[in-house]
Amino acid sequence: MECHIDYHPPANLLEGRVVLVTGAGAGIGRAAARSFAEHGATLVLVGRTLTKLEAVYDEIETAGGPQPAIYPLNFEGATLKEYRDLAKTLEREFGRLDGLLHNAGLLGELMPFAQYDSELWERVMQVNVTGPVWMTQALLPLLEASRDASVVLTSSSVGRKGRARWGAYSVSKFATEGFMQVLADELEPTSSVRVNTLNPGATRTAMRQGAYPDEDPATLRTPLDIMPTYLWLMGPASRGHTGQAFDAQPPKGVSPGTA
Ligand code: NAP
Repeated sequence: MECHIDYHPPANLLEGRVVLVTGAGAGIGRAAARSFAEHGATLVLVGRTLTKLEAVYDEIETAGGPQPAIYPLNFEGATLKEYRDLAKTLEREFGRLDGLLHNAGLLGELMPFAQYDSELWERVMQVNVTGPVWMTQALLPLLEASRDASVVLTSSSVGRKGRARWGAYSVSKFATEGFMQVLADELEPTSSVRVNTLNPGATRTAMRQGAYPDEDPATLRTPLDIMPTYLWLMGPASRGHTGQAFDAQPPKGVSPGTA
């Protein structure tokens, strides 16, 4: 799988582009939002916790980035109308969408399938798959209105090879890969919108700590370290690439550039 951790983007890579990031208030989403803004994008910060989104808004403003927009939204319980209202707001404010990073995610719990709670299963599928699917549908006309739109769906190693005890999370990431393939194949003949998945790999965030409580976080790459592939996929360098599964960092033991 392709990995672009050595990519050195120009400072104005995303200038003039409008990019929406979900789960923009924490972890990888926060780093992506800040990084995209640093490279010139106007951000639409989507997430469930307003105070976290406001903090990222302030960070972007302080760094001198384009003024972002904040749109609080909880994938658990969000309705089709909410996604359509979001699209209407973006249509009114910007008239198009040049980038969509589906990053928000819920781990659920790691446990044997025989004990997996059905309500938790539904919640994980809602946040990781169903919500992003209907949000994408609502935003498609705005993506089509862009000359060079990129949709990036966040996957995981367990979305490419199943692993014991990873239950709904693993299945939701396989579904993410499937949704990417269906949409990319469907759009390719007629549209310039590209659709790909990106596996961040082991990254120092709250979610990773939840999954691996005994791991020393200092041994992991930070969200900022893995931004080159995010920038490559969001910017014009990835034009023509669609329907592909990318990795943000090389697998353990493989040096950058060889993955
Ligand atoms: P994180 O630190 O837990 O952040 C997850 C983000 O998703 C937070 O901003 C959170 O909002 C948001 N979110 C959760 N539930 C939501 C909901 N119901 N509605 C809206 N937003 C919601 O996790 P992360 O490690 O940065 O993960 C980012 C993405 O990378 C996820 O898709 C994850 O599956 C994937 N990933 C991560 C790793 C890793 O090693 N970290 C590895 C593979 C894949 P709040 O902050 O408000 O809770």
